[in-house]
Amino acid sequence: MANAKDIREGGCLCGAVRYRVDLTEATHSTCHCRHCQKTHGAPFGMFTVVPVEYFTWLSEPAGEARASDRAVRRFCVQCGTPMTWESPEYPDQQSFSSATLDDPSGLTIAYELFVSRRFPFIAPIEGAKQYQADWEA
Ligand SMILES: [Zn+2]
Ligand SMILES: [Zn+2]
Repeated sequence: MANAKDIREGGCLCGAVRYRVDLTEATHSTCHCRHCQKTHGAPFGMFTVVPVEYFTWLSEPAGEARASDRAVRRFCVQCGTPMTWESPEYPDQQSFSSATLDDPSGLTIAYELFVSRRFPFIAPIEGAKQYQADWEA
């Protein structure tokens, strides 16, 4: 089992952006911060984090937006799908929108961020660590 890989592909809604990822060491999370709510146009964002060498772009997103100095959010300029959250604070990690996986089955959410901003009709995910704000807060 040590060498078992979980290779999957994903992409944006229109297919212009594509990637391949090994989920063997992936961590999945949700973020309820206002930036994620706004940029995803949804109650929360859902992100998968993998070691950067486990992630390969097949075709990269051209769109870049910054909601803060901490990170750039990359998106498809053709269809607007939010693809990544990339911060120089974590150069060895790749964080991408979990929902863009072609096969998003079997993902377990390890933690939830900014639950202080959670929409009142969204329940906490059972078993997931709950952080009021950032994972450092
Ligand atoms: Zn697209
Ligand atoms: Zn967020």
